[in-house]
Amino acid sequence: MIPSDNPLPIVDSFGRVHKSFRISVTDRCNIRCFYCMPESVQFLPRQDILSFEEIARVVKVAASTGISRIRLTGGEPLVRGQVWKLIQMLKSTDGIEDIALTTNGILLANQAEELKAHGLDRINISLDTLNPAKFEKITRRKGLDQVLAGIDAAIEVGFEQVRINAVSMTGITETEIVPLARFAREKGIELRFIEFMPLDGDESWDRGQVQTGAAIKQAIESDVGSLRPVERSHAAQPATDFEYTDGMGRVGFINSVTEPFCESCDRIRMTAEGKFRNCLFSTREWDLRTLLRTGASDHAILAEMRESVAEKAAAHGISRDDFQRPAKAMYQIGG
Ligand code: SAM
Ligand code: SF4
Repeated sequence: MIPSDNPLPIVDSFGRVHKSFRISVTDRCNIRCFYCMPESVQFLPRQDILSFEEIARVVKVAASTGISRIRLTGGEPLVRGQVWKLIQMLKSTDGIEDIALTTNGILLANQAEELKAHGLDRINISLDTLNPAKFEKITRRKGLDQVLAGIDAAIEVGFEQVRINAVSMTGITETEIVPLARFAREKGIELRFIEFMPLDGDESWDRGQVQTGAAIKQAIESDVGSLRPVERSHAAQPATDFEYTDGMGRVGFINSVTEPFCESCDRIRMTAEGKFRNCLFSTREWDLRTLLRTGASDHAILAEMRESVAEKAAAHGISRDDFQRPAKAMYQIGG
């Protein structure tokens, strides 16, 4: 039996050591991006969502095994009231070295300062277009000006890293690549393109809709500036990053569909209702909420996490004929 005060790292059957934990704090959102959510959606009842104390307990248990990086996501994490309180709690957890958050940016202008003040290290803001009509087409809501104000606020308060995430989709975002790249260069922030994955709310994804990272890189090199590769900041980083050869900025590509990076994955996940997952594409979940709410020990919580990770597949298999997408869409898992 593993003594609970000195647990071993969480390792899967392929020897991958887990260091990063992605936690969804809500499935709710103030917009409706078609690649993530259906237009009409039934959110979880509030009592099903883990409290900050419950999340902090799971993080403490995970951190005891060497999990050191946390990313808060959702749904939209900033629609959950006072998320800075959770950040404060996680920041004081032994072993947690880095806390990041992914947001659509709509509510960021008002919250950037308090997030930074309570320990948020890094922030990713999702933005696929600078064109208001296209923004509305993708998100089924208005709000581009608020996102832009959020980006400015994030830069202003001085996070260690401010990055834009853009999902790339054939027939929709080709025209957005160059303006986004120029915008990020002007603002002095990083930009990453994420290939559209089969986690959309309408379940209508098909491979033809994936605007590949390779095609985007080519567009940037011909219209914005030439790129050279940069070293990975850590081995499990999902993006391949490049810098402009003129020294003005960086751009990265998360080519989840065309160049999966499962081999070096070090991520575990938990949904807003406390379901533990070993992969974004996992078709099975492990129920930590019941353990948390029935007096289970830290040891039992850790055992559940280990059982899940022991079953982690070698790869997501999107390109295989027998690929089965998860029953949940992105907003229900946490991207
Ligand atoms: N609401 C926040 C946001 O939009 O940044 C956090 C949650 S969102 C699910 C996290 C990230 O997943 C966003 O960058 C979003 O663009 C991305 N995403 C959502 N659905 C996706 C899909 N089907 N394929 C690729 N990325 C997706
Ligand atoms: Fe909301 Fe983020 Fe999903 Fe868009 S991608 S619907 S902002 S959770």
